[in-house]
Amino acid sequence: MVASAAETPEIAIVGGGIGGLAAAAFLHRAGLPSTVYEQASELTPVGAGVVVAPNAVRLLRRLGVLDTFLERAVQLQVGWEFRRWQTGTVLSAENLEAACERLYGEHTYTAHRADLLDAIGSAVPAGTVRLGRRCVGLDAAGPRPVLRFADGEVVEPDVLIGADGIHSVVRSTLAEPSPATYSGLCAFRALVPAERAPSFARRPAQTLWIGPDHHLVHYPISAGRLVNLVAFAPAGDYSIESWTAAATVEEFLTEFAGWDPRLIDLIRAAGTPGRWALLDRAPLRRWSVGRTTLLGDAAHPMFPFFAQGAAQAIEDAAVLAACLAGDRADPARGLHRYEELRRPRTSRLQEVSHARSFVNHLPDGPEQEVRDASFRDADPLVANSWIYKYDPDAAIAEAVTGAGG
Ligand SMILES: Cc1cc2nc3c(=O)[nH]c(=O)nc-3n(C[C@H](O)[C@H](O)[C@H](O)COP(=O)(O)OP(=O)(O)OC[C@H]3O[C@@H](n4cnc5c(N)ncnc54)[C@H](O)[C@@H]3O)c2cc1C
Repeated sequence: MVASAAETPEIAIVGGGIGGLAAAAFLHRAGLPSTVYEQASELTPVGAGVVVAPNAVRLLRRLGVLDTFLERAVQLQVGWEFRRWQTGTVLSAENLEAACERLYGEHTYTAHRADLLDAIGSAVPAGTVRLGRRCVGLDAAGPRPVLRFADGEVVEPDVLIGADGIHSVVRSTLAEPSPATYSGLCAFRALVPAERAPSFARRPAQTLWIGPDHHLVHYPISAGRLVNLVAFAPAGDYSIESWTAAATVEEFLTEFAGWDPRLIDLIRAAGTPGRWALLDRAPLRRWSVGRTTLLGDAAHPMFPFFAQGAAQAIEDAAVLAACLAGDRADPARGLHRYEELRRPRTSRLQEVSHARSFVNHLPDGPEQEVRDASFRDADPLVANSWIYKYDPDAAIAEAVTGAGG
């Protein structure tokens, strides 16, 4: 039987990453139980650092998990500290400590992805997540979605949310094919134990070293116990888009030969780096079919240059829960509304993140000098207020009154 207006719909979420757990947490808060099907057989602390900006922090507070999150996060005092690649000369830096809270009511933090996941997971009721469940197929055409798992289990929920990340199986069934294209870029990611990192990298600062064809970002995470390094470089013929693929320290060093010796020391101090090819995907034209929809990277994979991948998944979760809770009589209508509210914003973020990939990699010369001069007058925290001030509840209220978009 398909759930009717009076019933509580049975909601299945494929993927227990940041977006899937946030969806379960916000749905629970709205009085809607759900089941999360996660392919991993155990929850291990995979991944590295993430920036958690005010728009995401606001939602962690709303979920009641901010205190848990803060036990292992680092509050950034300085952000967008741009430095020249050979000398480390500071081109600009933004004092976040005072400005963030004044402008947006919350600070900006950095954290290990696993710590963010744990904090969000603490708002999910026990028994919600089923591990070792890899979704291998979906039929969304009937009155109820039909989900198939690798172990042969078949589930027919009333509502299905595909939060299964960048290689989403749910997306491949729902959306018209939108092939990933080669961006020519890859990212090296590594963690450095704080005791092996130079003091400049242990400061609560997000620092971006920019040079020809490359840039490197570092910031402390895990209550200051680790320094997170992520560096962008030409990909050559490397095309593996995976959070778990490894590279060698030598490959990482080769890409940054000739850069400031302090950075070379930092790379040398790193453990085995990960390497991840950045593939480019245009925004999807739709996310939902009937009672099935997408959320997070499954819906809108984006380059990491605005550090908004996790935040957008959490925002999706908050809006989705509000839309489903606000229209129990017709979940398909609720999903449609969710998509209408979220797609313009996430498409814009996909587009601006894409455009940013060129700016940091200019060769030295007149264009780079103009860019560097422009950094001096820039105020990214204010310029990107459309990202940081977003509040899902306000966005929903504005859509109802027609006061904004
Ligand atoms: C292992 C890993 C490490 C990451 N590390 C970083 C990092 O260091 N820095 C950073 O900025 N971002 C990282 N990310 C990406 C970041 O978490 C996402 O960009 C962002 O949080 C959006 O969240 P999401 O829930 O959409 O996707 P994700 O957080 O990627 O979650 C997707 C989830 O779906 C599960 N899944 C996938 N396919 C299936 C399937 N067929 N059946 C069932 N479950 C499935 C995955 O195991 C995963 O748990 C990482 C992602 C992963 C999966």
